[in-house]
Amino acid sequence: MSTFDYDLFVIGAGSGGVRAGRIAAKHGAKVAVAEEYRVGGTCVIRGCVPKKLFVYASKFAEEFEDAVGFGWTTEKVSFDWDTLLENKDKEIDRLNKAYIRNLEAAGAELILERATIVDQNTVQLASGRKVRARYILVATGASPFIPQHLPGRELAITSNEAFHLERLPRRIVIVGGGYIAVEFAGIFNGLGVETVLLYRGEQILRGFDDDLRNHLAAEMKKKGIEIRTGVDVAEIVRSGDGVRVTLTDGAAIGAGQVMYATGRIPNTFGLGLENVGLQGTPHGAINVDAYSKTEVESIYAVGDVTNRVNLTPVAIREGHAFADTVFGNKPTTVNHSLIPTAVFSQPELGTVGLTEAQARSGHAKVDIYKTSFRPMKHTLSGRDERMLMKLVVDGETDRVLGCHIAGPDAGEMAQLLGIAVTCGATKAQFDATMAVHPTAAEELVTMREKSK
Ligand SMILES: Cc1cc2nc3c(=O)[nH]c(=O)nc-3n(C[C@H](O)[C@H](O)[C@H](O)COP(=O)(O)OP(=O)(O)OC[C@H]3O[C@@H](n4cnc5c(N)ncnc54)[C@H](O)[C@@H]3O)c2cc1C
Repeated sequence: MSTFDYDLFVIGAGSGGVRAGRIAAKHGAKVAVAEEYRVGGTCVIRGCVPKKLFVYASKFAEEFEDAVGFGWTTEKVSFDWDTLLENKDKEIDRLNKAYIRNLEAAGAELILERATIVDQNTVQLASGRKVRARYILVATGASPFIPQHLPGRELAITSNEAFHLERLPRRIVIVGGGYIAVEFAGIFNGLGVETVLLYRGEQILRGFDDDLRNHLAAEMKKKGIEIRTGVDVAEIVRSGDGVRVTLTDGAAIGAGQVMYATGRIPNTFGLGLENVGLQGTPHGAINVDAYSKTEVESIYAVGDVTNRVNLTPVAIREGHAFADTVFGNKPTTVNHSLIPTAVFSQPELGTVGLTEAQARSGHAKVDIYKTSFRPMKHTLSGRDERMLMKLVVDGETDRVLGCHIAGPDAGEMAQLLGIAVTCGATKAQFDATMAVHPTAAEELVTMREKSK
């Protein structure tokens, strides 16, 4: 008789853990999944989903303005934050229940408790109960953080709290230059909050194509967002019913809220990794091999806790590949090299493949095709907003190495471009593809001139 209570014990019911648990159960494994907060994890409860709902909400302000040029009268429109929160929470509750149902329908047992690792096959639950499993999967995700030594750090919020603010501030300072910071800057600005984005680097969205970064920063400024780069926060103090944020350059900004979005740290603190001799990276992430296996034979890890590429579809793929490898007799790895992605900034970004800088550092000859134009809608709306499209092409093989778009529906385009780039499409094949007219995306197959 087996000495194990379960074949698999998953710690964390987020994107990666739920997928791994469901697939392993379908492969016939006896599975338990522990969750300390809410099933669905970051993406569903306080990440992608509520964020995108907020983005939709915030875009209506411009839609109402743009409608006037098309003959609409849009007087007396108003916005109610409480209604948005209530409806968002209802949708999150619905998804949370759907995730629970799906896990249970797959035959996995759900344990709503925190779990920690005792030894290579034993997990302890918050209630004190110990369970033994043949395999343990760590899928505990990551959390936002506020620098430990920042004076006044207790006055700052993170994305977690931004989803539950009692009321919208008149002004907000957002600290950070990554995708979460720029997305929330667009959300708050669209909802009528004076928004200041502070970033200590030279330009927002480090790691993205430089043309895209510069284009987005310029467009965000046109929409009224104040972007200050090359500065950091020195101190936050309470001021009235808000805060006063003093910067490293000596300037000070009064605001109703200050939100930190300067990165996320893997949830490994207090997890018991030391009990099995797992050291982790200096950043606190768990090291794994291509099959998501740690240095301990029976312990695997997927998703943000491994700090590979911290996106929901990646966590899901890693969880699925783990279950197929360990319980499906089908060893599977995940390709982390070509990941299409969107930033739900305003305007939106969509990107896949290499940036121009990455391509130039790895390829002898690189051709760039670039266009910037006013989207058709704005000929009547009168809005001063431009769209940017850029193709990065290997000049020797003609293969498209990267596509970068800023403008409406860029994320949707990135998904489809991801297929073409994954298939190794050449620029000649892009050119041979018939255009869809009138769309913005047709520019992708009609760019003829190399940019100098
Ligand atoms: C504001 C925001 C916006 C985002 N937007 C996007 C987006 O647009 N697109 C995208 O692809 N990605 C987005 N992400 C990233 C995405 O949410 C994560 O990459 C994804 O959720 C990672 O999944 P995971 O399974 O690794 O971890 P999570 O989804 O974080 O799940 C981990 C779970 O483990 C639980 N847990 C932790 N420790 C324990 C323990 N000891 N015992 C029991 N349970 C535990 C946690 O409560 C959590 O539910 C966003 C993230 C944030 C914060």
